[in-house]
Amino acid sequence: MKLSEYFLPTLREDPAEAEAVSHRLMLRAGMIRKLASGIYSWLPMGLRSLRKVENIVREEMDRAGALEVLLPLVQPAELWQETGRWDNFGKELLRFKDRKEHDFCLGPTHEEVITDLVRREVRSYRDLPLILYQIAPKFRDEIRPRFGVMRAREFLMKDAYSFDADEAGLNRSYEVMYAAYERIFSRCGLRFRAVLADTGAIGGSESHEFMVLAETGEDRLALCEACGYAANVELAESKKEFSYPQEKEKPLEKVATPGVKSVEEVSAFLGVSPSRLVKTLLFKAGGEVVAVLIRGDLELNEVKLRNLLGVPEVEMADAETVERITRAPVGFAGPVGLSGVRILADLSVRGLRNFVTGANEPDAHLINVNYGRDFPEPEFYDLRVVSEGDPCPRCGRPLAITRGIEVGHIFKLGTKYSEAMRATFLDREGKERPMVMGCYGIGIGRTVAAAIEQNHDEAGIIFPREIAPFVALILTLGPEAELMEISERIYHTLNSSGVETLWDDRDERPGVKFKDADLIGIPFQIIVGRRFKETGRVELKERSTGQREDLSPEEVVKRLQGSA
Ligand code: ATP
Ligand code: MG
Repeated sequence: MKLSEYFLPTLREDPAEAEAVSHRLMLRAGMIRKLASGIYSWLPMGLRSLRKVENIVREEMDRAGALEVLLPLVQPAELWQETGRWDNFGKELLRFKDRKEHDFCLGPTHEEVITDLVRREVRSYRDLPLILYQIAPKFRDEIRPRFGVMRAREFLMKDAYSFDADEAGLNRSYEVMYAAYERIFSRCGLRFRAVLADTGAIGGSESHEFMVLAETGEDRLALCEACGYAANVELAESKKEFSYPQEKEKPLEKVATPGVKSVEEVSAFLGVSPSRLVKTLLFKAGGEVVAVLIRGDLELNEVKLRNLLGVPEVEMADAETVERITRAPVGFAGPVGLSGVRILADLSVRGLRNFVTGANEPDAHLINVNYGRDFPEPEFYDLRVVSEGDPCPRCGRPLAITRGIEVGHIFKLGTKYSEAMRATFLDREGKERPMVMGCYGIGIGRTVAAAIEQNHDEAGIIFPREIAPFVALILTLGPEAELMEISERIYHTLNSSGVETLWDDRDERPGVKFKDADLIGIPFQIIVGRRFKETGRVELKERSTGQREDLSPEEVVKRLQGSA
């Protein structure tokens, strides 16, 4: 491809709407353009990278014995009603009616469709195991689409589904997919970790997320270097035990705290450490409001709360609800005198004495609060987000917290969908049994963005070679025939030997070419400058290291073919 004939609308300035590095760089490098909130077009440069990831995924799925299908994006409501997800999937499921007033949705995931397909065709244990996959668009009406294609509404996903005769079969399929995922993300040139994950709305027993390690990641991971424990903090546990010195209960007291609300403010105002404060957080959970107590210096884990309550979602109560229940503005809630709601507490509160809480009155807090005396003893559970340095739940060594971007997610579903949809088979004894299922997703577009999030610098993208739009970029720094001719020769030789090469043959200043080259992040730059005329040499620059070498055109070609 010659840049003079290419469609590469690069931007000099950072687009104002882009907060994430990858989003900014993908817009600036002319990879994507926004059509509507969370809905993007892929331009040629972006699409090449997307296809690279897609091809790696396809090759590894095929190698693992999975079979490719293509399932419809538009799905009838009846299937979703069979599993109950029509009603409880939430607003991410975009529902609509066709001209005949029939209910449909855009597929955010395809368990229903694939289970329907398989239940109609598979009858016998002899047809199992079966792993089917597709690489196709999904639609999720995300509440907060952001970071460009990383959290989009329409996006390309690889989703695979396994069907086995029993648990042992599922475990084997799961391992095969797990291994395929490790190969995929290694081949993409990414630093990643597989971590234990929450199974969320999709249901099931065991689950891992594949996380691209990046400081800007939305997910936090708890990792133990000693024993290899790795979990999303959403469900990470810890051996930490909270023990407090025996203290005599002091008399309960109300103190005026005008306008003092947050943990930091209250702790500074009263001169007590945040670990002496107990926050009272109100949540809406399945039509009910619950109060959760947790020490002021700790963070509540909403996923643990949601799983404990067995509801699809929990949501912080809005100001109006807080005021109705506590009879005070937000910031002054407390457990004393709180009625009509269930009160749960994190284990960090057990044994704590003479703590500080809100008074359920505007501008007032209570000090020397004690459960059992001032309010009924709450139900204690592990509801805390683990912190850096907490003891590992397996080996007790300190946990490290790092950040990552979820690019893949695998689940053992079990028989949740096959039972709901009666996807059964006849076993060896002729007995009818539900198939045992697993499902396995990879965000193709998100993987491209995550690669950029992990690999970039001030000047732009630094693509890992395997998923770069091109491997090499020739920059010709002048219109002279001699420079154009040698550039063209290198260009043809590389392309015809399979080294995908883009040629910046534009009539542009060198500065512009250098800037664009670093921005679009192609791994190797071949700089054909005036010096070629004197020395017969061109420059090979590696984008990732910045290393430059003077080589003859033949040497450059050999070098790049060699590293192909
Ligand atoms: P998240 O927690 O980030 O919302 P998820 O857990 O809902 O993702 P899955 O249902 O596990 O996502 O989907 C499989 C994969 O699809 C994810 O691992 C991710 O790579 C990708 N993916 C999910 N949602 C989006 C999205 N809104 N935009 C782009 N990719 C997505
Ligand atoms: Mg997920």
